[in-house]
Amino acid sequence: MFVKYWENKKNLVIWKRKPKKIYSFRARKHYWYEDGLINASYNCLDININLGLGDKVAIYYFDKNKKLQFLTYKELLKLVSNCSFYLKERMKNIKKPKIIIYGSASLETSIAMLSCARMGIHFSVIFQDLSYDAVKIRSKLLDANFLISRCIEKKFYEKILKDKIFKKENIILSSFTKLNVLGINSTNFLELKYNKFFKPKFIKGSNDFFTLFTSGSTGHPKGVTHSLAGYLIYNKLTCIKKFGISKHSVIFTASDAGWINGHSYALFGPLSLGASTVILEVPYLILDQQFLKFILKTCKVTILYLPVTLIRLMKTIFTKKIKSKYLKVIGSMGEPLAFSVGKWFAKNFELSNKAIINTYFQTETGGIISSANYKNTSLQVKHGSSGKALNNQLGLFLDKSNNTPEFKIKNPWPGCMSSIINSKEIFDSYYDENNNFKLFDTGYFDKKNNINVTGRIDDVINIRGHRIGSSEFESIILSNNGIKEACAISIDSKLEGSMFVVFLVSKSKKKINKDNIIKSIILNFGNFAVPKNIFQIKELPKTRSGKILRRLLRFIYTNPGQKYTNDLSTILNPNVVSEIKKKVFHEKFRG
Ligand code: ATP
Ligand code: MG
Repeated sequence: MFVKYWENKKNLVIWKRKPKKIYSFRARKHYWYEDGLINASYNCLDININLGLGDKVAIYYFDKNKKLQFLTYKELLKLVSNCSFYLKERMKNIKKPKIIIYGSASLETSIAMLSCARMGIHFSVIFQDLSYDAVKIRSKLLDANFLISRCIEKKFYEKILKDKIFKKENIILSSFTKLNVLGINSTNFLELKYNKFFKPKFIKGSNDFFTLFTSGSTGHPKGVTHSLAGYLIYNKLTCIKKFGISKHSVIFTASDAGWINGHSYALFGPLSLGASTVILEVPYLILDQQFLKFILKTCKVTILYLPVTLIRLMKTIFTKKIKSKYLKVIGSMGEPLAFSVGKWFAKNFELSNKAIINTYFQTETGGIISSANYKNTSLQVKHGSSGKALNNQLGLFLDKSNNTPEFKIKNPWPGCMSSIINSKEIFDSYYDENNNFKLFDTGYFDKKNNINVTGRIDDVINIRGHRIGSSEFESIILSNNGIKEACAISIDSKLEGSMFVVFLVSKSKKKINKDNIIKSIILNFGNFAVPKNIFQIKELPKTRSGKILRRLLRFIYTNPGQKYTNDLSTILNPNVVSEIKKKVFHEKFRG
């Protein structure tokens, strides 16, 4: 019955040859739409042009200087064709190309992704700001043999050659300006001239499409691979059902191409539906309220989809409501959305009667696991909750057989990862003994059967037998005036059992009244819930996708003075670590 559902959904995309084999499971690997022949770039570009949308804007792009460029579907296909010819020429000596695209949300990255898709080449985007070591580790794990990058520093480039990560002839530096500082010519993807149509390569539906590394919030980024047709179909379906995306939509997803939402909801999903997508090289630029207004008005944005971390910052910075006659849907991503933050978001974007599409997703699931949808009102799905899964057949449930309840999926969908490149063992660890897909997150279903994710199972705070998700504390703390950000972590102590500590960032430089914070926590949870320590710090340590690095905070608290040995390659602000270490050390050992 479940497979039947996905068999029907095959008609959501256009095939060169329709699949007959819908699903099989061999050697602990899932194969979806195996014998179908399909191409992602064809599904995102050619079909729209065939439908008469060729002159419609496909991508609006704002670079780091806020300069706007836009490309119609016809223009984009031309550029992708040119880039594909160029890549083909450059890779003629490579038998099985595997490409790393080291770049941020940009036109070049989008063109490169769509070209790889057109040529049926496995690719992996790595977020531009990750360090040399991060790129080195990921390239080796992937066994990549070709690099496309925006301009990198000379030192970086020389190291790549010295460490033999890529051969000189297998590197393309893409640039809009003709730089030649490194002794190799950079290539402007907008100026390539082949002026021929590059025929899309139709490949098997179950072939690898791309690999993407997880955010690394838990200190272990995993190289998650998605298969082609399964990913496209699940992604397209969530775009339709959750956001209501159609050819009339303009979606602005403030996520980098290096993260899953930058793939799913900023590029492949919207383009597969003939919509327009707004891409912003530096998402933080929208904290400039005037600029955000300008984007919404100029591009006539109908769907605005933001990381929670940006919404929290907007709440502290924005002075006026944002009015836009075009905006119909707002969405949040990446982290639990505290009730007070959700309420502010809806009210200040003048959509208070609508539910926020608070999307619960993982890199591993390829797209949204659960969320409200564009038709819901806030009466149906309260702020902070993330609605329902696409349908009941997926079997998203809360397994309560262990101490900490965990969300699991009974029938993993075609968009779920097909493998993890680092390790078969890690891949296997995602399945329990009954072959349910583990999500490693906890929470609850509320009275209306909507999902509320309260954190990762490892982050649950256990005090005197009460198990409370970290975000439940944070949500209460954030409802106090003057708090910009909060993080509650659980600490295991031999002497005192479990306890929790809180890290806070104030909106201003003012000292936070810790008693008020404690009062609000006790009022909501009871007398047992008193934090062991409250630290006021300048900034919380975060991943580059904006997520709080709880494990790092827990480590600093339990091992003051020691070096953190987990992977920190995705940390956004390494400079904050020493301030936190000092504060914790001082507090714990002041006698
Ligand atoms: P890593 O797996 O490397 O530790 P990560 O889990 O942060 O990193 P992602 O795949 O980008 O990497 O993030 C998925 C996780 O983000 C989810 O498992 C969940 O913990 C959290 N998350 C995403 N959306 C929501 C949401 N709406 N509410 C609560 N948590 C969310
Ligand atoms: Mg994860």
